[in-house]
Amino acid sequence: MDELTRSQLAERHNIRNVPSDAIISHLHRVAEFLLEPVRQQFGIPFSPTSGYRSLALNRLLGSKDTSQHIRGQAVDFIVPHYSPLEVAQWMERHIEFDQLILEYFDPENPHASGWIHASLKPAGNRKQVLTKLHGLTHKGLPEGFGGGFDRETVR
Ligand SMILES: [Zn+2]
Repeated sequence: MDELTRSQLAERHNIRNVPSDAIISHLHRVAEFLLEPVRQQFGIPFSPTSGYRSLALNRLLGSKDTSQHIRGQAVDFIVPHYSPLEVAQWMERHIEFDQLILEYFDPENPHASGWIHASLKPAGNRKQVLTKLHGLTHKGLPEGFGGGFDRETVR
């Protein structure tokens, strides 16, 4: 829970980042059903880079007020030694989620770029997969390392 709520940025700016009980239950779900299966599959401990964000922290980060981080339903992470693309491909095939976004991934630099944003709701999960690449958002994941990405741009 500490790893999912603690933020250096919040501390530096004296922003309170303490989740309510309802949000804590969402964070438990994220830990159990998103993070733990990835940890089991890849066998490497890792700490999320961002989990719960209070509204003030989320705004400081320039993220929209609709962000699932505010509800404790989203997490950003990388798994050390693996490309975020490999991890995202495995998650797409094996686990339930609401949104899986491969963020700021560079196919030319697949092991040292990007991270995964994944979210999970109590119900009604969309299993939507997106890639943010070179300022555009695409549906789905890139086919592989170094390859182009020519699928539909959604926004
Ligand atoms: Zn995120």
